[in-house]
Amino acid sequence: MWCVFCEHDTSTSRSVEHVIPESLGNKEHILARGIVCDKCNNYFASKIEEPILSSTHFQNLRGRQQITNKRGVIPFQYGTFPQAAVPIALRTSPDEGTSVGAWHAKDDVQFVRTVNNARRGTFCLPFSEPIDERLLARFIAKIATEAYVAKALEGGITVAQMIASEELKPIRRFVRRGDQPEKWPISRRRIYHEDHVFFDGDSNHQVLHEYSILVTDENELYGVICIFGEEFAINLGGPSVDGYLRWLSANDNRSPLYLT
Ligand SMILES: [Zn+2]
Repeated sequence: MWCVFCEHDTSTSRSVEHVIPESLGNKEHILARGIVCDKCNNYFASKIEEPILSSTHFQNLRGRQQITNKRGVIPFQYGTFPQAAVPIALRTSPDEGTSVGAWHAKDDVQFVRTVNNARRGTFCLPFSEPIDERLLARFIAKIATEAYVAKALEGGITVAQMIASEELKPIRRFVRRGDQPEKWPISRRRIYHEDHVFFDGDSNHQVLHEYSILVTDENELYGVICIFGEEFAINLGGPSVDGYLRWLSANDNRSPLYLT
């Protein structure tokens, strides 16, 4: 077998590839061993997923939603404590309650002194912070490409056919090498609150992540991914999201994830 990104032989590769990172709670959407090689798997983990998941936006989301990482640990949320003028780390866990300390060990003394002396104070935790746009586009492109690969495999399309597809070459390169194009726009919007609870028959549940592949009337292929209510869409065939915006206006701005 060959890696669907770099086309190298994967007969000795050991890793399975998580379409959505495990640190966002994904245990079920996985590409089997041999579809993505170990080298690409490691590259995605360290150069794309790790910096995205440790951005304040995603790190605080994971902390708020108490999603454990691969080692079973809930991440700290990043914040500030204006009274002490130091960055703080806050963690809320169902077992251990809430703990808070200085983000940097060097600020510990000042943090504790200020807390002890303050009559009152405020911890500020940013809810949403800007993310490196290009890296976010590559993160979404990786998920979308792998979601497409999973669906195509189910439909009987082989990895060799996907590797040969001219349409997928630019996005595979954008994800794996990231040297071009300069910009690959994505659509990003909130479609429900991150705490939204869905009622499904007689049970309630929260949706951590979901995704789908949309083929528009103009025959463009989009990966549509939702992470805690925030929808991201990317054109798998080229760096333009105009066709998706046209599709949205023709469909009352409904999400392709919720068409029924
Ligand atoms: Zn590879």
